[in-house]
Amino acid sequence: MNCTFCKIIEGKIPSTSVFQDELGFAFADINPKAPVHVLVVPREHIGSLAAADKDNRALLGHLLWAAAEIARKKGLANGYRIVVNTGQDGGQTMDHLHLHLLGGRMMTWPPG
Ligand code: AMP
Ligand code: ZN
Repeated sequence: MNCTFCKIIEGKIPSTSVFQDELGFAFADINPKAPVHVLVVPREHIGSLAAADKDNRALLGHLLWAAAEIARKKGLANGYRIVVNTGQDGGQTMDHLHLHLLGGRMMTWPPG
């Protein structure tokens, strides 16, 4: 499968890794939208949140936990935002499920 994030997880495309465990992998976004911008992805290829099924429930919870753990390690004590762009209307451009962890500045609401 020609998936950039799968290749990043396999080490075939370089990335700045900030977290890894048996289920997940996290790395710095190449085009950061905030002082801290990390992508948290499952090692398993899942195309999007919409493609996740019932068997993926624990994995989804694990990725959310991992994002909170990274936020703690990055010292984001003032807060942060987790974003999961999903599908065309959601603005998803990379077809491997990913959580954006954004922090280090005040966020706006609603998002554009
Ligand atoms: P989305 O628009 O939600 O699908 O987000 C995709 C994100 O992946 C964007 O923020 C991109 O900057 C980021 N991205 C794309 N290619 C790479 C890469 N090779 N390494 C790190 N981040 C990437
Ligand atoms: Zn993939």
